[in-house]
Amino acid sequence: MKPSQHNIHIDPNKLPTEVCQCGSYFWKRVYIIKEVSGMLIGSTKNEFLFFDILVCEKCETPHVSVKIKLPSKEELPQSKTLLP
Ligand SMILES: [Zn+2]
Repeated sequence: MKPSQHNIHIDPNKLPTEVCQCGSYFWKRVYIIKEVSGMLIGSTKNEFLFFDILVCEKCETPHVSVKIKLPSKEELPQSKTLLP
């Protein structure tokens, strides 16, 4: 990755604010964890990779800049929602 060339003075007050579809403009950093099969990295054990992403502080929708594929609702285990 090249060092940023954008060291010019930018007035944030003149920039548009990223607003979520729910109307909130606060974002928070959260982590997702991907499991890497040990076979892919020549190890006998699986490893975990951590990625921090930005999500809406209110509805937790990932920001559009998030490039990592997240599981859809259909892909998530359903068992937890069935518990009383
Ligand atoms: Zn939102």
